[in-house]
This record gives sequence, C-alpha cells and structure tokens, in this order.
Amino acid sequence: MPRIQVLSDLLVNKIAAGEVIERPASVVKELVENSLDAGAEHIEIAIEEGGRRLIRVTDDGGGMDAGDLAMCVQPHATSKIRSEDDLFGIRTMGFRGEALPSIGAVSQLRVTSRQPEANEAYEIRVVGDRIEPVTATAGPPGTTVEVRELFFNVPARQKFLRTAQTEMGHITEQLARIALVTPHVEFRLTHNGRQVHQLRPAVGLRERVADFYGHELAAALLSIRREERGLSIDGLISTPADSRSSQKWQYLFLNGRFIRDRFLGHALREAYRGLVDPSRSPVIFLALRIDPAHVDVNVHPTKIEVRWRDSNLVYSQVLSVIRERLLGSDLTPRFDAGTAKRAEGERGRGGGGENGDPGAELAEERRREVRAAMAEYFKRTGAVPPPSHPAFGGSHASLSGAPADETLQPPSLADTAAAADLIARAADGLQASGQAEIDLLTAGRGEPLRDACDPAPEPTPVLQIHRTYLVSETPEGLMIIDQHALHERILFEQLVDRIARGPLESQRMLIPDILEVSADHIGVIETYGDTLQRLGFELTPYSSNTIAVHAAPTLLQEGRMREFLRDLLDKLAVRSGPASTELVINDLLSMMACKAAVKAGDPLTDAEIQALMRDRHRVERSSNCPHGRPTALRLTLRDLERQFKRA
Ligand code: ADP
Ligand code: MG
Repeated sequence: MPRIQVLSDLLVNKIAAGEVIERPASVVKELVENSLDAGAEHIEIAIEEGGRRLIRVTDDGGGMDAGDLAMCVQPHATSKIRSEDDLFGIRTMGFRGEALPSIGAVSQLRVTSRQPEANEAYEIRVVGDRIEPVTATAGPPGTTVEVRELFFNVPARQKFLRTAQTEMGHITEQLARIALVTPHVEFRLTHNGRQVHQLRPAVGLRERVADFYGHELAAALLSIRREERGLSIDGLISTPADSRSSQKWQYLFLNGRFIRDRFLGHALREAYRGLVDPSRSPVIFLALRIDPAHVDVNVHPTKIEVRWRDSNLVYSQVLSVIRERLLGSDLTPRFDAGTAKRAEGERGRGGGGENGDPGAELAEERRREVRAAMAEYFKRTGAVPPPSHPAFGGSHASLSGAPADETLQPPSLADTAAAADLIARAADGLQASGQAEIDLLTAGRGEPLRDACDPAPEPTPVLQIHRTYLVSETPEGLMIIDQHALHERILFEQLVDRIARGPLESQRMLIPDILEVSADHIGVIETYGDTLQRLGFELTPYSSNTIAVHAAPTLLQEGRMREFLRDLLDKLAVRSGPASTELVINDLLSMMACKAAVKAGDPLTDAEIQALMRDRHRVERSSNCPHGRPTALRLTLRDLERQFKRA
C-alpha cells in the first residue's frame, strides 16, 4: 500500500473547520456573510446555550434551488468565483467554498432554502460524513441554516468552549463587525429565545453605532470622509478626550469586511500621537473602499488580514484625513466639574490598576490640588509679582535655556501646586531639572519665536497662579493653561520643525569622548545609528562596555551631554519591537522638550507669559503636550453660571 494517500472529504472538511470554525461566533460569521452575499435585508440569528446547542440564521435572500442545495455542502463548491481571474476582483464576503462543508463536518447541519420565484422549498441535512439527499419541504423564500451540537465529534474543540455568556459575547462582537458596515440590513439576535439585539435598518454608520453602542458615544464622534486616488474613506473617530484603555474600540473595514491591519493600526497611532496618552486608544470606526483588484483578501482563512498593493497610499490617506480632522477641531477639553468628579471616582476604584499611568495620575492630582488652590486664590487679594524666569532670556525674550538650576529659586513647599509638582517631577524621572540643558535658541528655527510680522492675537490679560497655571479670558469664558505642558509642546514643535530640515547641528570632538555604557547600549548605537545621527550624535563602539562619542549635538551643553546620552540610550534600549524612525525621533525630541520646558513652580514675567500665549496660537496641536496630557482646560460662562446656580 502506498504511504501517501489522498485524504477523505470528511477529513479535509474537518481540517478546514479547524481553521475557519474556532467557536460558535465563527459559525455566525460565516452564515451571516452567506446571507449578505445572497442579498438578504433581514437576518435573524437565534442562539441557544451560547451556540453549543443551536445556531440558526434565517435570511430573506435569493435562496438556492435543489441542485445548488446539493452542491453547497460539498468542499470547494462556490457560486462566487469561477476562474483564477475572479480571485483578483472579489466583491462577495465568501469565495472559498469552505464554510458549509466545514460546519457540516463538525455539527448536525440542516439547510432549508427557497428561491423567491419558486413554489417549493428544499432541504438538505449533513451529519459528520453523512450527507442526506435533498428533499422538498415547505418554507418561506430565503434560506435558513441550522447548526446543532457544534463540535459533537471534535472533543478537543468542545473542551475549549467557554460559558454561554462568554460565547454570546463573541457572537455579539462578531455581529458588530458585520452589522456596522451593513447599516441598511436589519438584524435580530436572540439567545435562548430572549432578544439580545435588534438593529433596525439605519441610514448610515453613525446611526448604527448609536443603535449598537448608544447615542452618547455616537454623538461624540467626529465624522471623516475622503475619496482620493481610488480609495474611499468613511468613518467616525473620537476626539482625544474620548479615548479608551483598550484597542478593542477600533473597527477597521475594507470593502465591507472587518480586518486587522498593521499599516492601518500604525496610521491610527500616528494620527493621535501627542493627543492621547500612549497607553490609551481612540475609538475608531473606519470603512475603506478600494478597487478589489488593489488588495489581496486571500491571505488568511478567515480573511481578517489582507495584502495591499499600495500600502503607502492607504497609510498616508488614513493618517492625513484623521489628522486634518483632529487638527481642524478645537480639542481643548471643556472643564466639567461633573466629569472631573466622575474621573476621580473611577481612579479611586481603579487604585492605579492595570492601566494606571502614574505620570498622568500625578498630573491629574496636581490639577486637582490646583483647582482647590484656585478657589483659595480668589479669596486673597492680588498675587506676588513673579521674578523673571531665566528660560525666557532677558532682553530678546526668546525661549532660550540658561541653566535652570543656577538662577531658579526653589519653589516654596508651602505652595501646594509646587509641592505636587515636585512629586510629579520626581515621578517623571527628571532626576535633576538641570540635567540636560538644551540651548533652545539653536534648537529653534534660528529665528526668535516672536516674529514681528506675525499677526498675533490680541493680548488678553493673563494671570499666573501658583507659578504653575496661566489663567486667561476667552470669548466664551476662561481658560486654564498648564505652563509646563504648553511650553513643552511649543519646544517640541520647534524641534520637530528643525529636524525635518536635516540633522541637528553637531559639534565634532577633537578627541573622542569615551563613555561607559552597559552592554545593551552597544547594540542600541548600531540599531539606531541613523536616528542618533539625525539628532547630531556620531558614536562608535569602543570596547565591550564603552562607546566613543565623535560628535554631539551643539544644542546639548558640554558636561551635560553624557547624562543626556545615557538617558537616551536607556530609553532606546528598553524599546521593544520595531518602531519607525519618526516615532523614535519624536520620542527623543519630546524627551528634550520636556527637560527644557519651564516647570510648574517656575515664576514667569508678563512678557514671558505673553510669549507663551502668543506661541500657543502658532504651534500645531497646542492643546496637548507631547505626552498626550492636555495643556489647557476651558470653562465657559455657562459653566460658571451653572456652578453659581444662576442658570
Ligand atoms: P462561499 O461562501 O465561500 O461560496 P460557503 O460554503 O459559505 O462558501 O457556501 C457555499 C455556497 O452555498 C455559496 O457559494 C452560495 O452559493 C450558497 N449559499 C450558502 N449560504 C447561502 C444563503 N444563505 N443563501 C443563498 N445561497 C447560499
Ligand atoms: Mg460563505
């Protein structure tokens, strides 16, 4: 007997089922996709015991005649493609002809179908490898597929099924992934006879999101739309204020099919970089449409991954449409006493839990203390005029960096805000504020920030309180600005601007500086050689634990360069996974900006304050600092009236 044999159909189907049918939700996906391919407008999904006992999908689509019914449970039998060419123009959800035979191999399957113009319905049953002949029966137009006792003959799979509730969760998620992009179709989902979801036909994505997740979320989302170079983008995105702690809230669809894609994922992260904290994710519903010939959907058995012909196009279009939308919106969070309290409550319960960001929490705590301090402030009369801050320079009033620790008076610990900031500073890992001074005159655009020709906004009176916050009048009310966060953002933007024009200015050493580092730093300078060069560093390995510094950026003051370089190498050494150069550069620039910016507790002169306020209007995304924390809170007159119980 030959050792090599062709597998039986049942075995082939079981193997296919292993890939395509992971759990009840996968059956729901395949059956509902078939209904959509058949042109259905009403789809009912009935589940019993989390799908273990029964999954039944009923549609009002085009149905099948007796001949097709006999064929549909055969492996590799499909009505959706005929030739190889069709593979590159897939417009249906299915095309592999695997679903029904796979399901039949691992359950008790019954398909009943009637074409709208036919007088009769037909039925076929499959149990394991037993396919029964088609019989005539009664039934309405459309198709009903019943799947009973899923995995009855695959004990390994059965063991992995979770509680009915968990499996229902997966099914509901699967329904979302389909129903969100088919708003015109009505869906009904029941579990053990009880209705779980009824999705009425909707006019569009926003209405469907409202139906599925509630009106509050749907109303808070910004819509985006663009059609360019053969790619159409239609979606809803959250403002940075509405970010979530999980990426689950990102739904990407391509030609009506839910997909995961690392290019798109990266584009989304880029679009929100600097606007949301890296540990949080925005809410995204994004429906892309592209000529099917420009994408290969046949790279994954469940088609959840695709291969783009032009991934750059997709990446850049998605990134730019979202960024334009976000930058065009006023992202300054509205101050809402209710939200603030709720947020505090949530943090309290979380107890700095899994997603707790100590930096953000401290910043929030500081903000909270200052809110209290503000009330106190208004009880007092007038503030002490603050002495000049060195970081602004005297006469040219530009954002230059004289060593901060030489002239800076230690902030008074009696000042709650300053005390909170001291903690925050320690937590931020800024061991000493003067550790790495950066001369921002050279880091900047080579021109003073204040350009006489720039039509500056009308100067409004601005008050510095607790040497930490700037309070200013706005047409709608008032705004409270975090001076450090804002300055950091301004410096960051200047550096980004500067580095786009070429490597930062660098100073060659007469004799290379030998720096002791740890062994993993040696690898870092090889991996990130180009990046370091753009920042103005030229480094080579010297021994197993030393490196030679041949050149360093001029903006780093001598003597401080070594500490800064170690920090920088540390940071790069702990980076995991591949990262684009831009991400790394931005990370490092934000580190520089953070160190050079005025701190909470730094007194500012009127001129310095006005400079900050003016630059606020000149920097992109100035409503958030590079770490994603907001730079400003806003309080409208209506909010004030509500607080004073006048409204
Ligand atoms: P595929 O969807 O990849 O073609 P399936 O195994 O899911 O493979 O289905 C096989 C065939 O059965 C389909 O091509 C289609 O012609 C037919 N079919 C399946 N479900 C339905 C349905 N609900 N209504 C009409 N025809 C269906
Ligand atoms: Mg199918």
